[in-house]
Amino acid sequence: MLAILTLSKFQAWQSCKLKTGRADEPGRPFLFLMHNVVILGSGCAGNTAAIYAARAGLKPLVLMGKEPGGQLSITSEVENFPGFPEGIMGPVLVENMKLQAERFGAEYRFGTVDAAELSQRPFRLNVDGEWIETSTLIVATGASARWLGIPGEQSLIGKGVSSCATCDGFFYRGKKIMVVGGGDSAMEEANFLTRFSDVMLVHRREEFRASKIMIDRVAANPKITVVLNTVIDEVVADESGVVASATLRNLKTGEVKKELVDGFFVAIGHIPNTKPFVGQLDLDEEGYVISHGGAKTNIKAVFHAGDVQDRQYRQAITASGAGCMAAIEAERLLEAEGH
Ligand code: NAP
Repeated sequence: MLAILTLSKFQAWQSCKLKTGRADEPGRPFLFLMHNVVILGSGCAGNTAAIYAARAGLKPLVLMGKEPGGQLSITSEVENFPGFPEGIMGPVLVENMKLQAERFGAEYRFGTVDAAELSQRPFRLNVDGEWIETSTLIVATGASARWLGIPGEQSLIGKGVSSCATCDGFFYRGKKIMVVGGGDSAMEEANFLTRFSDVMLVHRREEFRASKIMIDRVAANPKITVVLNTVIDEVVADESGVVASATLRNLKTGEVKKELVDGFFVAIGHIPNTKPFVGQLDLDEEGYVISHGGAKTNIKAVFHAGDVQDRQYRQAITASGAGCMAAIEAERLLEAEGH
């Protein structure tokens, strides 16, 4: 339920705002809304949290973030989400979740949180320059794949370029697959992808960063060819607009060569989207939210859901499950507090 701030609360908030040095546009009419539940992120975790919170009558506000629809919005077909025996396109799946949440009263808005003040409730969030307040917060901001930043890469995502072997590996059965990276993710993806075809694993250094056991598995897998000291300069499409080759450059010899490739998997890590929460939420050394049991964070009434906390599974279905848990936690807390 939305509550309009009283004048005294508004004035208190204004003074607080001045203390922190933020200035509003002079003369701008100001209607300050407070929410029961704000959900940050509109991937599987955020959308599922929205369905549950909306169905509980909490009228959640979903701030869709920088990548509306999350990682599924850049995936092609999803074949492992239960309930779709023929598979479903990733963007359709997340859009369906959004429609389902809206049907129960969830409100979706484009917007990204630039700053959050979580030291007291209601929490305050700066969304693209505007402040909003909420009694509970579900952080489902996800983790974005780290990309190489080379020509061809971004425009060919979903057309041969992928950051998720489990999602897209199946499409490259019997085709030419390349994996880039030298950490555990790259080892895991390379091994996984040999179910479908031979794999070329390309790493920029002489040594892998991955753990010994993962390196040993790669070494023991005859379907993986390792190419070291090599970077990719470019991913190139054919005339039909799908990946056809990659340009490799050996950093020691300077040799440049073109490799034919159909599936180009970038596995150089993820970056959890937790910047606004640094110094407030307990984060691990890489910035992932540390769980304090279930969907709880170290701050009461702030819950986590999905990849922002989960570096292990990173699946649409696990993110959805986590979103459900977070919404139930928020609902129970609000109920216990007499809402
Ligand atoms: P990571 O350990 O940070 O490794 C990233 C790899 O990508 C490194 O080898 C790095 O090269 C390379 N890289 C980064 N930027 C690059 C660029 N611009 N161009 C070329 N290469 C680049 O990331 P991760 O493999 O995703 O693993 C993240 C965490 O999850 C780790 O703690 C890992 O142990 C864990 N994890 C565990 C498992 C498992 O145990 N089953 C599976 C997956 C992930 P350099 O080595 O040269 O820096």
